[in-house]
This record gives sequence, C-alpha cells and structure tokens, in this order.
Amino acid sequence: MAAQKTEAIVIRTFPLKEFHKIITFYTPDFGKIKAVAYGVKSPKSKLGGSLELLNHGTLLFQHRENRELQNITDFNLIDGFSAIRSDFTRITYGCYFAELVDSIASEGIANPEIFDLLQTTYQFLTHADDVPLLARGFEIKFLDCAGYGPELSRCVHCGLGVNGAATEKFGIAFSVRYGGVLCGDCKNRDGAAFTIAPGSCELLKMLRKSEWERFNRIRASTRNHKELKRALGSFIEYHTERNLKSLRFIESVL
Ligand SMILES: [Zn+2]
Repeated sequence: MAAQKTEAIVIRTFPLKEFHKIITFYTPDFGKIKAVAYGVKSPKSKLGGSLELLNHGTLLFQHRENRELQNITDFNLIDGFSAIRSDFTRITYGCYFAELVDSIASEGIANPEIFDLLQTTYQFLTHADDVPLLARGFEIKFLDCAGYGPELSRCVHCGLGVNGAATEKFGIAFSVRYGGVLCGDCKNRDGAAFTIAPGSCELLKMLRKSEWERFNRIRASTRNHKELKRALGSFIEYHTERNLKSLRFIESVL
C-alpha cells in the first residue's frame, strides 16, 4: 500500500449506504480509479462537497494493487467549473462527457491525453457558442485519444482518397463496422453504412484537429449537425456496447 498523489476529475459518483460514496475519478497518472469516500455525506466530513461530479482537484489516496476500490485520503479542489453548473444545457453535456470517458476507459491504464482533453473541454464548455458542435468535437477527439478514431481521409475498403471531384459526384458513406468512410464505389459493401455529405466529413476532420479556441469560428449547417451526430453516435455505441444514459437524456430534453 503506497500513498499516491495525482490530479483527478470526478466522472461518476454512487451512493454507498447512508454516509459513503463510491467515486470514479479520471486521472492522468493512473487512468480511471474507483475509490470509497467514507462518511462523505456526514455533515462533519472534510471532503463533503468537494467530491461532486465533474470537480477537478488533487487526489490523495492509498494505492492498493489489484484492488477494485481504493481509499481516498484527501481531495483538494482545483476547479469546480461553477459556470457550467449554472447552465442546464452545459452541465448536461458535461455529464455526458464524463459518462463517455467512464464507459470506454479502463481502470489502471494511464492516458494523460484523455485527462487533458476532459479538463480543457470543461474549461471551454463555458464559452462555447454551439454546444452540440463542441460535443461532436469532444467525441471525435476522445475516440482518437482512446485509439478508436474513424478513418476519414481514405476509403476503408479500397484505400482511395475521399476528397475532390469524384467524392462530390459519387458520394461517400460512413460505415461503423468498417471504421470510417467508404468511397462511391465501395459504399454498398456495408448495407448498414449511411450516406454522409463530403462537407460533413471535411467538417469532422476540422473538428478533429482544431484547438478549442478555434471552435467558436467554425460554422455547421443543420445537415452537418445531423450527420455528425449520427455517425459519431453509432460509432460510440458500437465501441462502448452501451446506451449512454446521459445521451438519451440530451436527446429527450434538449
Ligand atoms: Zn473504396
């Protein structure tokens, strides 16, 4: 058992009996960590309030190898993203990003890129003009960090580059099963593949490589929004093998 210190973001909380909580953190150094916060719901707890969902802080814990649940020693808040919490749309999307990370990330496998992505996304979420577009940006960046990023530049069946005149003329399709775009010649290879406008594919490539600061200058049409949501949503569902609760909530309420 060793005392460890790391930055962490709370990505899930779950009540345990009357006064305790099981907290899932995402950390740059240990990946996902699950830990018990004993007595956190008691009014006397020094941790009370600091372990809310999405909070970013410094976590001290007793690290026990091969144990599912770690023991929290302390958590010092760095950023509670209070501006997100006061906006229903933004907090709802914020919870979706946390659930998405929780659904794909494995425990104990460090991926500092995912931590940085989550943290910078929450910082930018307050300022985003088009929150659903930011969500598509988060999804594609997260898939890339997790090693599941779709192929968008070449046909995933024949390898042909998918841009230029032929793409405009014969169209392209997005295939979840093949893991990216199919050119006009190959688009019937996957019966479940769906047509996507070349412009939506180009936009997705732009979201993939753009820094958050640039996002408020990117414009997306209703068609772009619809196609990217469908492509990324089905891709995520395929890889997580779950129906994300927060995504269903966004669809029904926002
Ligand atoms: Zn092809």
